[in-house]
Amino acid sequence: LNSPADAAGVLGGVRAEVRATPDYPFIPVHAPVKLDQNESALDFPRHLRELAVRRMLERDWNRYPDLHADTLREKIGAYEDWDAAGVVVTPGSNVIIKLLTELGGIGQRILTVQPNFSVYELEGQMLGASLTRVPLRADFGLDVAAMKRELAAGGPGVLFLPQPHAPTGFLDEESDVRAVVEAAGDDWIVVIDEAYHQYSGSDYRSLVLERGNRLSLRTFSKAWGLAGLRLGYALTHPALAANLQKLVSAFNVNVLTQVVAEVALEHPAYVRERADEVIWERERVQSGLSGLKNLHALPSRTNFFLVRTPDPSAAYAFLLERGLLVRRQDKQPMLAGCLRVSIGTREQNDALVSALLELDRELE
Ligand code: PMP
Repeated sequence: LNSPADAAGVLGGVRAEVRATPDYPFIPVHAPVKLDQNESALDFPRHLRELAVRRMLERDWNRYPDLHADTLREKIGAYEDWDAAGVVVTPGSNVIIKLLTELGGIGQRILTVQPNFSVYELEGQMLGASLTRVPLRADFGLDVAAMKRELAAGGPGVLFLPQPHAPTGFLDEESDVRAVVEAAGDDWIVVIDEAYHQYSGSDYRSLVLERGNRLSLRTFSKAWGLAGLRLGYALTHPALAANLQKLVSAFNVNVLTQVVAEVALEHPAYVRERADEVIWERERVQSGLSGLKNLHALPSRTNFFLVRTPDPSAAYAFLLERGLLVRRQDKQPMLAGCLRVSIGTREQNDALVSALLELDRELE
């Protein structure tokens, strides 16, 4: 292609919905302290990395991996107390979100809350689904009545309900979640996105078990400290899993990912210990920020929290000048002025707290 005009001319084979969908809203920025992607601040433990590398040396790299990653799915099943036939693994839970929108296909509904995790709507938009975003209440809780009205209006569709929510970090009352989930008829697929559940104390596996159209979405990217591995999974019923599995490309989880995740699942104690440490640090940071006058730190049940500022671009630049990279959220409805900040190591959190206190004083 020699010119932009040629490029535009050959895109007739790309559906209008795909062309109209914006890129994933993330611009990589480098800084000494990375608090912008809700990752684990600590890497996968050194001794487990070494064990995984030794195991990789024994594997055949020239052979395709296990077709449906059966050993990995068995190990996830054992860890989660879940029938392995109801476990689906993909390279990151983002991929399962995409596949879930494909189950219902063009013309279905995608129902979620607002503000939300952007992947639900990007995937829905790309597919040509009809998208409904129900605003959260002013206190960031679920608007149960409005969600029930939308569900009653009928599917087919997919409900994406994060618990706890991203990017607010709030967790709903269990009775509200149950009321919404139970209002979904059989023409809905109900997804509870539990990417951050290790930090919230919530666990919706038993609600998922009650009905065949429900599913919990989990990931190795947060509490497991393995975002670079790209591994996510769904816990669901064998019949729904079997249909989801048809949409998964063959050999979709590579041998390295399978080996590392199996090692992690054989040594899972670090996950709980570290998640408890993050919760402890989160509360310590929040109490360090309780005296803020011009900024406001919102409470959270995840490994990140929102800070409301009078001028988010100035606050973002102020933190970046001090080596602290955070994420802007001020374009999202209801989040005017908000920055999203991940919990880091103890030293990183200390640096964050002092920078925010300094900014708060400057705003006097
Ligand atoms: N769900 C939510 C709510 C998230 O915040 C994320 C990560 N940003 C994901 C799913 C996707 O995680 P991954 O693809 O890394 O498994």
